[in-house]
Amino acid sequence: MYDLIVIGSGPGGYIAAVRAGQLGMKVACIEKYQTYGGTCLNVGCIPSKALLESSDKFEQTHELLSIHGVNVSDVKLDLNKMMERKYGVVKQLTDGIKYLFKKYKVDGITGFGSIVDKTHVKVTADDGSEQVLETKKILIATGSKPASIPGVVIDKDRIVDSTGALTFPEVPKHLIVIGAGVIGLELGSVWRRLGSKVTVLEYMPKILGNSDGEIAKEAKKLFGKQGIEFQLDVKVTGASVKGKTATVTYEDKAGASHAIEADRVLLCVGRKPYTAGLGLENIGLETDKRGFIHIDKNFETSIKGIYAIGDAIAGPMLAHKAEDEGMAVAEVLAGKHGHVNYGVIPGVIYTHPEVANVGATEESLKDQGRAYKVGKFSFMGNGRAKAVFAGDGFVKILADKETDRILGAHIIGPAAGDLIHEICVAMEFGASAQDLALTCHAHPTYSEAVREAALACGDGAIHA
Ligand SMILES: Cc1cc2nc3c(=O)[nH]c(=O)nc-3n(C[C@H](O)[C@H](O)[C@H](O)COP(=O)(O)OP(=O)(O)OC[C@H]3O[C@@H](n4cnc5c(N)ncnc54)[C@H](O)[C@@H]3O)c2cc1C
Repeated sequence: MYDLIVIGSGPGGYIAAVRAGQLGMKVACIEKYQTYGGTCLNVGCIPSKALLESSDKFEQTHELLSIHGVNVSDVKLDLNKMMERKYGVVKQLTDGIKYLFKKYKVDGITGFGSIVDKTHVKVTADDGSEQVLETKKILIATGSKPASIPGVVIDKDRIVDSTGALTFPEVPKHLIVIGAGVIGLELGSVWRRLGSKVTVLEYMPKILGNSDGEIAKEAKKLFGKQGIEFQLDVKVTGASVKGKTATVTYEDKAGASHAIEADRVLLCVGRKPYTAGLGLENIGLETDKRGFIHIDKNFETSIKGIYAIGDAIAGPMLAHKAEDEGMAVAEVLAGKHGHVNYGVIPGVIYTHPEVANVGATEESLKDQGRAYKVGKFSFMGNGRAKAVFAGDGFVKILADKETDRILGAHIIGPAAGDLIHEICVAMEFGASAQDLALTCHAHPTYSEAVREAALACGDGAIHA
């Protein structure tokens, strides 16, 4: 009899299993694929970041090193080798989970998990053999799958989802990206750097969904300068394939129809929770209209003893959100006080420059009618950024007008994905912008731009 069976080994499930093991529970983690790590390690965060790094190296060497006086001629791309490196990185990390399971006595079981009743889970292996395991508690961590739109069918060749766009066999001549969200911009950047013409079609009038408007505008400007073409406010109506050519049709805001051709199309219009075949009906657990499982503050569903975390429940579909929930639920189950502060979950886009955010956007504060102030500082005024030719972008801090408490922060610029965490920590401690502004920051570092933005919330930045 297990204390806990976790279904799904993504960043939510494997972290929950490891933490539960560390806290002395007898745990099993069931995964339908041959490797652990879920979307994140196998076909998400990790392979996309591996390719972003490799493609950045290619572009830097190819185009940008000469400004440093480093002339490299005849730069060639070996796409197979780039992909091999990516597979190597993924393997190292997925193997790392095996090691952790062994170390913390988690039984990793390969097979498809389905809930028989509140205390039994059936595992069906690839060869069809079945075993039924008994448990006190069940944690659903089955994650998500790419969403689709009417008229666009993924053929896994010319029309692909994010998984397909991580493994194109050659650099597309023209890549159409449907959806200007995080994944579309990251993968669009990868292939643009490697030589593709990239056209992004987006339904909304801005890129990056609900991000802060000023940041989205700056990002569009910078990505546009890099060569990505954007068609905003358009509705994709269909996609078809003839030979090696895909045609995407769309309507613009005025209702006029258009068609563009490309050799590859990436559909990335979001993700939806995945609970197919899980047997939720056997325990009477329903999902909402969008497929999400509802939970209470302890991650317990409406069915006692059944818990859920990660992309399968509401909230930002991010690996670290799933991880935090995994850790928290294991602690709750061990009688501790696991907790996730949903107000301080950073988001990072690993483009060049990076984009990062935490907390409220200016638009959301306006909607709430909350009085706020804005402190902004451009990387053009930051010595380190100037020295490395990374002056694009800015730091924007939003603070309460009366109390000066930091409510949100948005960064586009060098190392934005790391810089944001200083502000996350400050927000966790309920800090004011002045607290950040009075903290000594080493010179010359990018983090001085954060301090300057905090100063700009008060009496003003120095280098502005
Ligand atoms: C291209 C891409 C890039 C991304 N980049 C980032 C990033 O940089 N940073 C970030 O924070 N997030 C990123 N994400 C999102 C991130 O991957 C997800 O938010 C995260 O993986 C969710 O974790 P999870 O544990 O909830 O689910 P998942 O990682 O989806 O894992 C669920 C696991 O459950 C398994 N499973 C499902 N049903 C069953 C069953 N019945 N039996 C057995 N096993 C089952 C699945 O096979 C899967 O392995 C990216 C996603 C994509 C697609």
